[in-house]
Amino acid sequence: MEQENKNTQNQQERKNPRRFYYTKHYKKNYSKNPEERTNVIRTKFKKISVVIPLLDEEESLTPLTHEIIKVCKGINVDYEIIFVDDGSKDKSLEVIRSLAQRFHKVRYLSFRKNYGKSAALHVGFKHISGDVVITMDADLQDDPNEIPNLLKKLEEGFDLVSGWKKKRYDPFIKRNTSKFFNFITRVMTGIKLHDFNCGLKAYRSEVVKDIKIYGELHRY
Ligand code: UDP
Ligand code: MG
Repeated sequence: MEQENKNTQNQQERKNPRRFYYTKHYKKNYSKNPEERTNVIRTKFKKISVVIPLLDEEESLTPLTHEIIKVCKGINVDYEIIFVDDGSKDKSLEVIRSLAQRFHKVRYLSFRKNYGKSAALHVGFKHISGDVVITMDADLQDDPNEIPNLLKKLEEGFDLVSGWKKKRYDPFIKRNTSKFFNFITRVMTGIKLHDFNCGLKAYRSEVVKDIKIYGELHRY
């Protein structure tokens, strides 16, 4: 019980600064008049599927959905948002249910218990109908405004594009264990990537159908 209280308190602390960041960022970049919008990027892809695994993220789901919808409308692309509830114990499931009722582009799947992020992604991938998949964390750590840039990279011919958290809001200890993890992974795999653990990634759909992820493999 005490642990649970501590967790929700931590989550609160984690989330608030990010919401602030969004508003600030968005006001700067978004205008209602499409012609005034800077960085309008058109994409060749027909439909993007945004897959979002979540565990106890009731607070961030609504702002995240609004943000994704705005971004997708901004680039004039068909899209779907697939939430995969990984056995949340808070009101997350209720929130995604009502989002799905409000927005027909929103769909969801729900696990009765917690199977981990990899399992959630894996099941989400089975239900996509887009030709591109974007994966994103639900905790507002990944900025939907990066979606157009990821799509641009895919169009250049990459099969997978990984985001990276430039600005981290995590506590010191997490930042540094994560730096260490990224360093070791870079050395072991020989792949030059800043942030292996970033939830924001884009794949061509064919690629996702060939990948099996389990355990901690979602990091790669
Ligand atoms: N998540 C999940 N199942 C879990 C743990 C996490 O679906 O068992 C989700 C979580 O809600 C978030 C994403 O996976 O949307 C990343 O989780 P977290 O923020 O804890 O990871 P980190 O930012 O440390 O990589
Ligand atoms: Mg996170």
